[in-house]
Parts: sequence; structure tokens; C-alpha cells
Amino acid sequence: MPHKYVTFSRNIFIPVTNVCRNACDYCVFRARSREDAYVTSVRDFLNVVRHKGAATEALFTAGENPERAYLSSFFKDRIIEAGFTSLVAYTKELCKLAIQHGLLPHCNLGVLSKEELEELRDVNASMGLMLETTAAELDAHKNSPGKDPAVRLKMIEEAGELKIPFTTGLLVGIGEDKEDRIRSLEAIKSVHERYEHIQEVIVQPFLPKPSTAMWNRKPPRFEELKEVVRVAKEILPEEIAIQVPPNLTLPKELIELGASDLGGISERTIDYINPESPWPREAELRSKVAPFELMERLPIYPRFIKKGWYSEELKPLIERYADEDGFRVR
Ligand code: SF4
Repeated sequence: MPHKYVTFSRNIFIPVTNVCRNACDYCVFRARSREDAYVTSVRDFLNVVRHKGAATEALFTAGENPERAYLSSFFKDRIIEAGFTSLVAYTKELCKLAIQHGLLPHCNLGVLSKEELEELRDVNASMGLMLETTAAELDAHKNSPGKDPAVRLKMIEEAGELKIPFTTGLLVGIGEDKEDRIRSLEAIKSVHERYEHIQEVIVQPFLPKPSTAMWNRKPPRFEELKEVVRVAKEILPEEIAIQVPPNLTLPKELIELGASDLGGISERTIDYINPESPWPREAELRSKVAPFELMERLPIYPRFIKKGWYSEELKPLIERYADEDGFRVR
């Protein structure tokens, strides 16, 4: 039986930097040259945060390991000017500022070491890393050492050891096949069985973008997405939410098959990973998913609030925003 309601969170989306050591064939986010590279300054960050509206979540994304990227000198110059030495140290500072401004951080900065996860843990309500797929040696990832599934599963496992509420997911249609998708879901299930830390699994369709190597590849058919949600519902434990992004797909049929979350939507910022796909406004979303009700959550799911998987730094905000069931207080 599908839930009677579907959850979402209100966020602001902060791309810390678009400098990335990987070069995925479908990516439009990564900087190709110094001219289009950036590191978001503290001043620009605060300008966004001050207009957060009703958002409770600051979603931080970044290119992976920019210190080792082809544009690393650009990145390091900017970070040193800001008074820091690494992506993690700088983002931690932004997380602290986000908390001061009433936002609960959620970082997805690509592959991090266990020490880096530990450094960020107390200033994050949850963290994330897309597994994407367990299919190794995909053509789309030939220039992306960080997309090695073993490396990504190791980080997801280490987040579990550190009791970090965690988001992961599948990117559907990048060259993997049905069996790969099943293996990916089984791998997520297996790590969750050991640590019980996965709060949601995103089922995200690949969408071709102009000026990328995969511009002429077809996105997955809607029937394929339905199949992935159906299989995810069968494989994943009940407590893990299946998330479908409402700006990239039609959510209602997927909810009927077992999806129960729509992820973060933002009134103030765009989806920097899929900039051509605006998020629906809340009223539009409500009508798209009816008769399912929309229920707002925080970036930390209710059961992790109940388990106390958050730091003293985050406690005042969580107490302010969560109702007795762990959803956003109305
Ligand atoms: S998809 Fe992510 S990891 Fe791949 S190139 Fe783009 S920013 Fe880097």
C-alpha cells in the first residue's frame, strides 16, 4: 500500500564550487575552464541565506575533490583568499553560518574520507552521496575516478559507522542495465542492514544536456523509471524512502508504485545540476500529487530525530522546526 502522503523539504541550493576532479559524460555542472569556474563567496552565500524564506535546509553541493582537479590552482587560490585550505574546511564554515541563519545543512560534496565526514558530521543534519550505479567501467564514467562504485560504497559505509543520516540514489539511464540496477539496490540494502543509516534512495533519471558528451543519448523511458521504483520497493527495507525528483519526472504514478518523497524544492534557488528543469511551486506540486497529501519534513527524517542522531549544534533548530512526530511543525 502506498503512503497516503508524500514528503518534501524546503531548501536553498548552494553550489560551493563547480571545480571537479571527475568529468562525467552527462554533466553540465562541472567547470570546463577558468572562465566558467567559481567558488561561492561567503558574501554571495549570505545574500542567498538572508532570503531563505520558509526553507529549513541548506543543500551544499560541490564538484568532487577540487583540490585534485585540472582547475585545482583556480580553486586553491579562491579558497586561500577566503582564509581556508580545503573544500571541507570552507564548507564547514558555510554550514556554521547556515545554522546561525536558521538552516539545517545537508552536504553532498562527492567522495569524502572518513576523517572529512567526521569533520562535517556535527554541522550536518544529514549528508549524501549518489551511488549512481554499481556498474563499473561505464563509458560515461571513463574520466571519473570518483565514480568507482567500490569507492562510493566505502564512503556510504563509513557514514554508517559515524551514524550520519544518509541519502543516496541511482542515476538511471547512464549505460547500466536492469541487472545493474538490482545490484545497486541490493548493495544499498546491504550497507543499510549493517548501519541503519540510509534515510532515502533517490531514483533520478539521466537527462541529456546540450554541450555534454551524452547530448544525443535518450533519457530512460517513463516505463523504465516505474520499473526501478517497483523493484526498489521490493528490495529496500520499508523504512527507506524512495525519492523521485518532481522537476525531472511525473511523480504521481511513481508514488502509486511506492515512492514516498519528492526531495528538496526551492523557491529561491535553481537546481544547479539540472538547471533547465525548474522546481514546481508548492501549489502546483500539491495538485500534481493529489490525492496524496504533501507533508513537509526536515533534511533529517523523523526516525533519526527520534533516535537522537544529531549534534548539540543542531538541536535548537531541530527542536524549533520539528513537531512531535518529527515532521515540520505547521
Ligand atoms: S556529475 Fe558530479 S562528479 Fe561528475 S563531473 Fe559532474 S560534478 Fe563532477
